[in-house]
Amino acid sequence: MQIRDIRATTVTVPLEAPLRHANGCHWGRFVRTIVEVETDNGLIGLGEMGGGGDSAEAVFRAMKSYLVGRDPARIEEMRFLIANPTASLYNNRTQVLAALEFACLDILGQAWGAPVCDILGGRLRDAVPFASYLFFRYPDPRTGAGEVRTANQMVEYAHALKRRCGFRTHKLKGGVFHPDYELEVYRALAEAFPGDSLRFDPNAVWSTEQAIRFGQAIEGLRNDYLEDPVFGLNGMRRTRQMVRVPLATNTVVVNFEQLAANALDTAVDVILLDTTFWGGIRACVKAAGVCETFQLGVAVHSSGELGIQLATMLHLGAVLPNLSFAADAHYHHLAGDVIEGGPMRYEDGAIRVPDKPGLGVTLDREKLREYHELYLRLGGYPYDQDPARPGWTPLVPNDRWADPHDARPVAIPF
Ligand SMILES: [Mg+2]
Repeated sequence: MQIRDIRATTVTVPLEAPLRHANGCHWGRFVRTIVEVETDNGLIGLGEMGGGGDSAEAVFRAMKSYLVGRDPARIEEMRFLIANPTASLYNNRTQVLAALEFACLDILGQAWGAPVCDILGGRLRDAVPFASYLFFRYPDPRTGAGEVRTANQMVEYAHALKRRCGFRTHKLKGGVFHPDYELEVYRALAEAFPGDSLRFDPNAVWSTEQAIRFGQAIEGLRNDYLEDPVFGLNGMRRTRQMVRVPLATNTVVVNFEQLAANALDTAVDVILLDTTFWGGIRACVKAAGVCETFQLGVAVHSSGELGIQLATMLHLGAVLPNLSFAADAHYHHLAGDVIEGGPMRYEDGAIRVPDKPGLGVTLDREKLREYHELYLRLGGYPYDQDPARPGWTPLVPNDRWADPHDARPVAIPF
């Protein structure tokens, strides 16, 4: 079996409402690149990467000169071919490698009649539990509905998501408003869901002293962990010395060098594995093995997936013995998907691991065309800008918070 072609298509999929975060906002949509790798026997493997446009599509086209004619089973060699660690000083292709690894595993699973999790050691669970992943939101630019700004709105929204999806873990994405305001919102969630577990993530924009202040204030709640309260391993280490809540990261331990540093002088308790950031599902399995050895916790990180990447997260979650926390997903914020029968459904706070060979998802060509046209119509959006505050430049540590009393409507083109 040989790789014959590689194609990439940029899509824009609408969200229920714009999601606010510490560095800006998802402006009511996700832009993703859908990757197809085709073999000489007619199999098509699927991959996915964040962002898109002409430059992303050109990067995947350029990979044809490396990969056409090669055996898709030689995935470890592909790592050195396109993402050699020393050559990557000049041209980091970790995320490109990840999308191609997803597609090659998908091809192999189809060729061998095995779900990807079986290739990775076999499933330990049939469904992966997820957290509710709550964001402050602007109203949907099309309907005006869906604003989440106040503690009451947040609690109501969490109840609605729990009714719909069955979540028993709630993650609050903060870093938008002053930490004192977000602390009140977090406490309101803890009070509203006394039997559920909680986690908070301000995307690393606090000072270490602010991180310590907030961390100490939430001791005693049912915290899974406090995620990236501060940027940098030393800030995390200083926070960890002063706070009796486990710390997690998807920011400062995202490769094996950093994982080694964290094992030798621990600054973070729980490593959030992202199938894109780490360069593929197999790299995440390997990293989870290191974490198992050093007794560090692991969970599954979300970088804003559609159904293809969600499938990679499900197969990863299925095979990790030390997955002791619910995974994160932005998935329930989507208003559509590019896979047949999608979006996948949550049952009792979890999503079933696909049973079919490969990743177990099939591209819906009609949806692919529709969402590609939406991308062509709307173009990209500045992820690191807030549509309500043109020119706003957040600092690290930040003190330029949004105003929680500002309820003006926000004009977001759609
Ligand atoms: Mg995070």
